[in-house]
Amino acid sequence: MEVAQLNDIIKSSKNILITSHINPDGDTLGSMCGMYLLIKLNFKKKCDMVVVSRVPDKYKFFPNINLAKHIDEFDKSREYDLVINVDIAAPDRICDAKILFDKAKHTVNIDHHKTNSCYAELNFVEGDASSTAEVVYSIVKTSGWKMNLDIAICLYAGLLTDTGSFRFNNTTARCLEYAAEMIKIGVVPNVMFKNCYETYTKDMALCQAYCVDKAVFLDDDKIVYTTVYKKDMEKYNTDEEFAEGLVERLRAITSTSVAFVAKEMKNGGCKISMRSKTIDVAEICGLFGGGGHKFAAGCTMKCNVEEAVKKILHEIRKYEL
Ligand code: 5GP
Ligand code: MN
Repeated sequence: MEVAQLNDIIKSSKNILITSHINPDGDTLGSMCGMYLLIKLNFKKKCDMVVVSRVPDKYKFFPNINLAKHIDEFDKSREYDLVINVDIAAPDRICDAKILFDKAKHTVNIDHHKTNSCYAELNFVEGDASSTAEVVYSIVKTSGWKMNLDIAICLYAGLLTDTGSFRFNNTTARCLEYAAEMIKIGVVPNVMFKNCYETYTKDMALCQAYCVDKAVFLDDDKIVYTTVYKKDMEKYNTDEEFAEGLVERLRAITSTSVAFVAKEMKNGGCKISMRSKTIDVAEICGLFGGGGHKFAAGCTMKCNVEEAVKKILHEIRKYEL
């Protein structure tokens, strides 16, 4: 059985690395810290954790997140016995940490993206799970691993954030049952909500309001998008974190079928975040090298914001909305 194999691999490994994806969210960081603590508690082993982008301030409350190191601080010639990817739909999502993944003796892939190609030696990929944290907890239950409050905090954060506070269509009975089990261990839901959502500074809130105000509504308001430029963030003295929840806000408008945010990147490219109520936006993002889920997906395009918007609109309009 796969879980038995996982147990054997962990037991036989002296050096273990757990990876998280670029532009990390609550699920990849919660699953990473959760796995770190599970391995420490159940196997008495210390692991390394790697991040490939800055950790958003609001996730600094995750137990042990301060132990995660940026990929630039790693010795790339190092060979790990085991590398565990969490919430990594495709290996390029871990950027330079892929060098360490490719060299590892054993590789494990724990994820919930339907598009995941099961690229590792051992794959725990459940396309119907709400989050990677849910997949991690299903491994815990099958294997009988011990839990503690810190682990429950990490996994609850993954469940909470990937379901948009238990509101999106990936919120299932199993996901809520698992959340209930975390609460029984001691997780306090309103504290978790406060830590994960009530996190905007005044500048961030005003910058988000500005981006909603300049949103463009097209095709009977079924398509709505907005743009985020470096100069917008400079004007409001904020960083990219202000945009969290922005695309969901546009999708929440009653007339919206598809919403997207086109964000100018430091290197001149454009990051697209798409949400839908009807069409498969993972398919559209897939055309540009991205992916995700049917109703929530993203991609990074090499062109500027205006060109990216044009290309995305062209693809959206091929669908009946
Ligand atoms: P977000 O729009 O919040 O960045 O991402 C929404 C969903 O799309 C997440 O599940 C995320 O994993 C996925 N996603 C976002 N950007 C990319 C990308 O560049 N490549 C892939 N494969 N998935 C992405
Ligand atoms: Mn996820």
